[in-house]
Amino acid sequence: MFKAPRGTRDILPQERTYWRYIEEKAAHLCQLYGYQPISTPVFEDYQLFAHAAPDGTDIIKEMYVFKDRSGQELALTAEGTAPICRAYLEHGLFNLPQPVKLYYVTSAFRYERPQAGRYRQHHQFGVEAIGDADPALDAEVIELMHRFLSSLGLSGLSLEINSIGCRQCQPAYVEALKKYYVAFKNQLCPDCKVRLARNPLRLLDCKEASCQEIIAGAPKITDYLCSECQTHFQSVQKYLTELGIACQLNHRLVRGLDYYTRTVFEAKPEGEGVQIALVGGGRYDNLIEELGGKPTPAIGFAAGIERIIITLKDQNIAIPPLPEPVVYVAYLGAEAKLETIKLVSRLRHEGIAAIQAIGDKSLKGQLRQANSLGVKYTVIIGEREVENKTAVLRDMASGEQKNISLSEIARLIKKR
Ligand code: AMP
Repeated sequence: MFKAPRGTRDILPQERTYWRYIEEKAAHLCQLYGYQPISTPVFEDYQLFAHAAPDGTDIIKEMYVFKDRSGQELALTAEGTAPICRAYLEHGLFNLPQPVKLYYVTSAFRYERPQAGRYRQHHQFGVEAIGDADPALDAEVIELMHRFLSSLGLSGLSLEINSIGCRQCQPAYVEALKKYYVAFKNQLCPDCKVRLARNPLRLLDCKEASCQEIIAGAPKITDYLCSECQTHFQSVQKYLTELGIACQLNHRLVRGLDYYTRTVFEAKPEGEGVQIALVGGGRYDNLIEELGGKPTPAIGFAAGIERIIITLKDQNIAIPPLPEPVVYVAYLGAEAKLETIKLVSRLRHEGIAAIQAIGDKSLKGQLRQANSLGVKYTVIIGEREVENKTAVLRDMASGEQKNISLSEIARLIKKR
């Protein structure tokens, strides 16, 4: 027997109701906030991701990279931002009034060790606002994220924020951090030893117990921000306070991807481990330039759909069910079957969700199926009904039955 590959999941119809719920809320809010939908391919030139995140970072190590039959090196989409920046440049979206505000739902592929809430294929709903450095845009994006989560019915979430500075001020902080860490070099976990050499900012979000005390004493990036980054961060926080959005300042928040600048933020269920971030985002003011464009500030977030579903279930949030079929059409005999085929087609044409009895079940078996489907009505056509051009209409709740002309069925059901 074949199985879905490790770290991937089938999404069966019942689970799909959650998806519909989430995607509808997302699309509705994006429309209210002026974000337009965009889709990009499921694979991209590997170099696009390699440009966005330098060698040795998690995202590069986890990427699904392959050569196609022409020898071109491609990668399955690992995150949504770099492809959208590529599309922004490729289609000249910089010629439109800025900022350009886009949203997407995409699959993301990462070769991670699968565990609860961590898959090798997951899905993200994300937004990107490209082309303006105004802190009001940071506040808008964070408010949109906040409203998205609360509109789903989620509560008890914590929202954390930090600023990680810019090209001007971040290097001095990184130097100070390295200087501080050198004293602890021998106590660090193996990953942090590598981070110290390659990617010191990521030292701050190490999850190893042995590194926690070291992190707690590390210098804080907000003490090293240049005056522009400081003013920007203060404005973001002020706007969020005015909007009534409570954010906790987390000095350790640096985010996994290297292209972030200034504002970074995450939302997660309160009290949970750091692993289960539901949404993460931030500014990436240098990325478009690194991909070959003009300097273009931008900000966005990505929400993990599977993790949101896990949290919706944990919090017992009732999801509106999908509409059920209204009518089941049963038959007795070959001629009646022909009538049911035509009737079901007509009902559907009239916008009534109808299920046709399929196969050679007995009438009793058909009625049992109608019952289990939870339909409101069952229509039964037998030999006599074929002759009279009528059908029996059974109201499943009351059990009441009546004979009715075939041409009247759709009108009667619609009326009721
Ligand atoms: P990132 O692109 O790493 O910032 O991730 C954005 C969001 O996607 C996270 O906050 C998670 O909710 C979700 N996510 C990231 N990686 C995974 C994964 N391997 N499995 C499931 N969800 C994930």
